[in-house]
Amino acid sequence: ATMPPLLSAIANAGRHGVLIKSAVVMEQLGQVDAVALDKTGTLTEGTPQVTDVRPLADPGLNEAALLRLAAAAEHPSEHPLARAIVDAARTRGLDIPPVEDFNSAPGTGVTATVDGRRVAVGSPARLRGGPAQPAVTMAERLEGEGRTAVLVEVDGSPVGVLGIADGLRVDAAATVTALTALTGTAPVLVTGDNPRAAARLAAEVGITDVRAGLLPQDKVTAITELEQAGRKVLVVGDGVNDAPALAAAHTGIAMGRAGSDLALESADAVVVRDELATIPAVVALSRQARRLVV
Ligand code: ADP
Ligand code: MG
Repeated sequence: ATMPPLLSAIANAGRHGVLIKSAVVMEQLGQVDAVALDKTGTLTEGTPQVTDVRPLADPGLNEAALLRLAAAAEHPSEHPLARAIVDAARTRGLDIPPVEDFNSAPGTGVTATVDGRRVAVGSPARLRGGPAQPAVTMAERLEGEGRTAVLVEVDGSPVGVLGIADGLRVDAAATVTALTALTGTAPVLVTGDNPRAAARLAAEVGITDVRAGLLPQDKVTAITELEQAGRKVLVVGDGVNDAPALAAAHTGIAMGRAGSDLALESADAVVVRDELATIPAVVALSRQARRLVV
């Protein structure tokens, strides 16, 4: 017997390196007419590196002490920024002390008790505890260079800023072009990262609609608004922070390699081969299959 078109399309998608979870999903993919892309780990490689370690003059920690505290607080986190910070500390031969009372807030950052002090590491826009002017200036300068700036606080006071850089995927621009051709509109960038770094990266790949500084629920709102305007939205993401949007979208695709378990579960399909260009390919496959289904 010949295989039904949607099932052969699923097999074909598998050969492209995309796992499609059902025939219904295979069919829905071809209906999408808008795309929302996450930034960190989706348009970028997801293997960020710490490029700047900047203690504040007050209280005057040295670079090693700043990095050690940040790495300790981030150690239990699975976020790509956390891995970058822990790797940077290890590379410099720093010991990473154990922590207590670890807490993580998706889209914001982490807190933990290190050496009896409460350490917070995360978005400068959301963690700003007290009068943090020098830290904000430093963060904005790094963000202007396209970095993700991460603020480190001890017992509620800023002690320093880390700059983190993540390279664009090699196929990011080509994928945006292909998705624009398939849907007739350029994808939207939805990110929890800062607006400066987001706008810079968007310009490099040909995206003009940039929604930055979003919490996980804000990503859902952005998708829901597009769908209420009659669009069928494909969301592509990798993080815990993307899971609600992946679930809310008409179709959600998770990036598999560095993707969080929650994102993989919430998505309708998973990119296993870790190439962004597989996504327009499977949308095209779905459209071909739909033409064969009567
Ligand atoms: P994106 O939407 O680009 O994938 P996230 O929503 O995961 O980004 O993170 C948004 C922002 O929240 C980051 O740019 C960072 O400022 C902060 N953040 C989130 N998790 C962490 C963490 N574990 N450590 C430090 N900062 C974090
Ligand atoms: Mg991400």
